[in-house]
Amino acid sequence: MKLRLAIVGAGPAGIYAADILLKYERAFDVSIDLFERLPAPYGLVRYGVAPDHPRIKGIINALKDILDTGHIRLFGNVNYGTDITLDDLKKHYHAVIFSTGAMEDANLSLPGIDLPGSYGAADFVSWYDGHPDVPREWPLDAKNIAVVGNGNVALDVARMLVKHPDDLLPTEIPDNVYEGLKKSPVTDVHIFGRRGPMQVKFTPLELRELGELNDVDMVLHDEDFDYDQAAKEAITSNKQLVVIDRIFQSWRQRETGSASRRLHFHFYANPLEVLGNEKVQNFRYERTQPDGAGGVRPTGEIRELDIDALYRAVGYFGSPLDGIPFDERHGIIPNHEGQVLDDHNRVVPGVYATGWIKRGPVGLIGHTKSDAMETIQHLVKDQASWWTPAEPEEDAVTQLLDSRDVNYRDLSGWQRLDDAERALGKERGRERLKVVSREDMLDRSLPGDTS
Ligand SMILES: Cc1cc2nc3c(=O)[nH]c(=O)nc-3n(C[C@H](O)[C@H](O)[C@H](O)COP(=O)(O)OP(=O)(O)OC[C@H]3O[C@@H](n4cnc5c(N)ncnc54)[C@H](O)[C@@H]3O)c2cc1C
Repeated sequence: MKLRLAIVGAGPAGIYAADILLKYERAFDVSIDLFERLPAPYGLVRYGVAPDHPRIKGIINALKDILDTGHIRLFGNVNYGTDITLDDLKKHYHAVIFSTGAMEDANLSLPGIDLPGSYGAADFVSWYDGHPDVPREWPLDAKNIAVVGNGNVALDVARMLVKHPDDLLPTEIPDNVYEGLKKSPVTDVHIFGRRGPMQVKFTPLELRELGELNDVDMVLHDEDFDYDQAAKEAITSNKQLVVIDRIFQSWRQRETGSASRRLHFHFYANPLEVLGNEKVQNFRYERTQPDGAGGVRPTGEIRELDIDALYRAVGYFGSPLDGIPFDERHGIIPNHEGQVLDDHNRVVPGVYATGWIKRGPVGLIGHTKSDAMETIQHLVKDQASWWTPAEPEEDAVTQLLDSRDVNYRDLSGWQRLDDAERALGKERGRERLKVVSREDMLDRSLPGDTS
């Protein structure tokens, strides 16, 4: 018996799922096809993790080792839903795992949030990470910018906005991103959070890094650091918070005033409204205060800040997939430990989910590994309910894609593109220079291309 498995989405979750299944103690052979809508694998590790985080981007090397074992076929530039459908998968495979992640911005329901000059973090991240499906230009014309959110994506966005672009040159940022950032007149970036400094979702490493930015002052306000009992107790019971507190306190001691750019932290600030005539001009928020139980309550004190742009970094959101149940509230595929559930909470045979589309857009890359393990355990145990494909032969899928003129790329195509990006980087003394447009990506992954 040979399990023919389709995995849709070549981010870390999909690649780890393939790796875990290949190493799993099982009574059958496996053959895995990995479908990815982009010409490049690695999902948000390539298109989410910030370019100035080379250590995290380095996880790509571990994912590459998995793909390079030769046991997984990659079909890049193949979109589930248009190029290949659920009926196709049922015809050629025994089961499918969806690991399509999340790429949209979660909504922030505020009056004025749709004004020009108000942006979603996910769109900006896609731009600076050179995602092929977003415009090459980003309007960087704001001097004063608000970033709403107190998680690591808010830190990434604020850092990319306030950092001097020359300090990004050693990274893999595409040329158009460097040129765009170079024109930015930004002087002040303000990070807003509804709750207090001891209730943030930042991780210490990412927070500390901000304090190391060249020519950027950190601005904090004394009123936010009058900790209540709940905050003090939180520090004693949580090592991460001890470090976070230490970082904030060290910034509070610093002299400010000499840097050309500033990063301001505003805690206890509940967003109320974005104001402006034709574009964002002002951000209105209400001061909150600790409620004694680790949360906050409103104070009635309304404040305003003049801004030229606003970025909401309040979370990512998954997208529905054709023929697959979808939980509209949470932006995930409803599931029990990776087994997909229908509207009546019954397990849908042969259909599985893993990663952010299974669990929601929280957690680090490492979490997708344990996640994949859980899903694979079910897949293996469920053998009796797998699909019975009419054409399980490996060639049948390539014939199908060829018959539809799908311009897919296999693993060697991706390897050529990878080599081309490294070669472009080498010319400039950098490790890699990302190729951005889908057309260029496809061209450079063709055999014999030397452009
Ligand atoms: C801005 C940002 C910064 C981050 N920084 C860090 C960090 O520093 N450290 C860290 O550990 N984690 C970080 N993360 C989290 C990390 O990126 C995620 O934990 C991880 O990428 C989730 O993996 P995934 O495979 O579930 O989804 P994804 O990485 O999103 O991969 C999903 C893949 O599915 C593909 N796909 C989607 N729809 C289809 C379709 N219809 N057909 C075919 N393919 C499809 C997508 O193109 C994508 O390649 C960050 C996340 C974001 C958003």
